[in-house]
Amino acid sequence: MGRYIGPVCRLCRREKMKLFLKGAKCLMSKCPVEKERKPPGDQRFRRRKESEYGRQLREKQKMRRSFGIGERQFANYFALAARAKGKTGDNLVSMLERRLDSVIYRLGFVTSPRTARQFIRHGHILVNGRRTDYPGCQVKAGDVIEVRERGTSRQRAAEALEATRAQEVPEWLRLDKNRFRGEVLRLPGAGDGRVPVDLSLVVGFYSK
Ligand code: SF4
Repeated sequence: MGRYIGPVCRLCRREKMKLFLKGAKCLMSKCPVEKERKPPGDQRFRRRKESEYGRQLREKQKMRRSFGIGERQFANYFALAARAKGKTGDNLVSMLERRLDSVIYRLGFVTSPRTARQFIRHGHILVNGRRTDYPGCQVKAGDVIEVRERGTSRQRAAEALEATRAQEVPEWLRLDKNRFRGEVLRLPGAGDGRVPVDLSLVVGFYSK
C-alpha cells in the first residue's frame, strides 16, 4: 500500500487522539481532536465492543501513522526490532524515533512529519557535517544534526522553530536554536515515544 496522502486530521480522529501530524495547528484549540470531533465514517456502523484483534490493530495503526510510514516499512521495522537484543517494543520505539525525519521534526526544524521528509530530501540537513538526503537514516548518540547554511534552508527552519516554539524538545535531544543545531544526547527508549501506545498490543498484532 502506498503512502497516505489524504487529510491527516482524519487519521487522528480515527485513532481518537492527537498524532501531531500538522505542526502548529496541533497545539491550538482548533485541532479537531480538541474539539472532540467524532471519528470519520458513519457512526451507526461502529461496533460497540472492540475485539482483541481490533485493539491490537488500532495500537499498531496509531504508532505507524504517527510516524507517517507505510505498512510494509513498519513491518520491516518490527522484524528488525524483534531480531535485535532487548524488548521488541522498546527497540521498535527507539528505531522509529531515531529516524532522521522524526528527529528534525522533534527538534522543530519543520512543522510536520510530511515536511520533514521533504526538507531532508531537498538537501537542507547535515548530519555530522555531511549532507544527508535519506529521511530514514538512523541517528546515533553523539550525532549532530544541523540545518545547512545556504539558500532558504535556515529561513525556513527559523519559521518552523517559531511556529513550533510551544512544542517540547525530548530529553534525549538538545537543541541550539541560534546555531540551528541539534545533538543526540542518548538513544531514545520506550518512554520516549511521541504518542502513548500500548506496545504489548503492537507486539501482539505481529505475533499471530
Ligand atoms: Fe490535526 Fe494535529 Fe489535531 Fe491531529 S493533532 S487532528 S494532525 S491538528
